Amino acid sequence: MTSQPAARLIYLDHAATTPVDPAVLAAMAPYFTEIYGNPSSLHGPGRRASVALQQARRTVAEALGARPGEIIFTSGGTESDNSALRGLALARRAQTGADRIITTPVEHKAVLNAAETLRDRDGFRLTLLPVDSAGLVDVANVAAALGDGADVALVSVIYANNEVGALQPIAEIGAICRRVLAPFHTDAVQAVGKLPLDVATLPVDALSGGAHKFYGPKGVGFLYLRSGTPFWPTQVGGSHEGGRRAGTENIPLLVGMAAALAQAEAERASEMARLAVLRDVLIGGVLERIDGAVLTGPWTPRLPNHASFLLPGADAEGTLIALDLAGIAASSGSACASGSRQPSHVLAAMGFSAELASTALRFSLGRSTTPDDVDYVLARLPEIVARVSG
Ligand SMILES: *Cc1c(COP(=O)(O)O)cnc(C)c1O
Repeated sequence: MTSQPAARLIYLDHAATTPVDPAVLAAMAPYFTEIYGNPSSLHGPGRRASVALQQARRTVAEALGARPGEIIFTSGGTESDNSALRGLALARRAQTGADRIITTPVEHKAVLNAAETLRDRDGFRLTLLPVDSAGLVDVANVAAALGDGADVALVSVIYANNEVGALQPIAEIGAICRRVLAPFHTDAVQAVGKLPLDVATLPVDALSGGAHKFYGPKGVGFLYLRSGTPFWPTQVGGSHEGGRRAGTENIPLLVGMAAALAQAEAERASEMARLAVLRDVLIGGVLERIDGAVLTGPWTPRLPNHASFLLPGADAEGTLIALDLAGIAASSGSACASGSRQPSHVLAAMGFSAELASTALRFSLGRSTTPDDVDYVLARLPEIVARVSG
């Protein structure tokens, strides 16, 4: 029996997750077996783990322009979002009585459900900002919702949208929050490693990141928390992470996240310029070749690796299965929503009907993506869409 050559796989779902870089895996390996100490222990093995922990914290802080003490390690983007929303809003309310949370309807569910839980179980009021048909927040609407800010416990706005690629005006929103002293969090899980983020100039009090979106391991992330920001820890226990997140630190994963972030930052400018060119070829090609195709989210400002569409008449499930058979791994836009057949809350907020939203298709590019990959997608997609629509 002769073995078939491995089928070519074109992975275009980097917004859902990325493979761990081999160099990252190699950096992690010794911390599972050789350097296994608990960083809280005073003996040699503990101290060696503690050195790795401090180094990882310095590396992540440096990538963001933060101080090491402003980085809280977490189990991922979801935990960072939850602990930011709860930690900032509860502390602010205790201090000032402010009980209103302002966020957007295009947040990741980690933020949206944390905000709704604060409303339903903890008695906060919730204001959802309007977004336009490209999914963008208007700064004037943020200012109007804030008022004098006296009753605002927290504002949270996603930096880069995972479903439609839209980049929000975070610097401007942060500036007006700061004017009225309203704490401001941004979910930057899709932005970290792709966009320049410098908290020395970006007026945010808290910022979430997750390693598996930038070629690090799953199950680890960070929350940047500006020093001096009142914060109530969600997870309590020992005094790890400066008392802000209890639990023995997962050294191998933290080391992996730091190595992945350092690598992403080192190549960010050139790699994102490369991907933006491929993205634009893909967007232009799809709009040209497929009748009625609509780009979701703005073409600019947009994530450099993100192309998302509505393909009227072509149900996403059928398209995704046909693409998979053709060796192309894509997404409808929200990994969390697929399988549930719930219409995307993001596309609904942007004004699209459930029927149109059910045709959503997202390609998210990454390190493995070549110009040939984009050509292949553009060659196969029209025939696939025609078949699925037929
Ligand atoms: C992936 C993602 C999250 C969740 O992060 P996990 O590390 O998977 O928990 C949150 N927000 C956005 C924008 C994301 O893309």
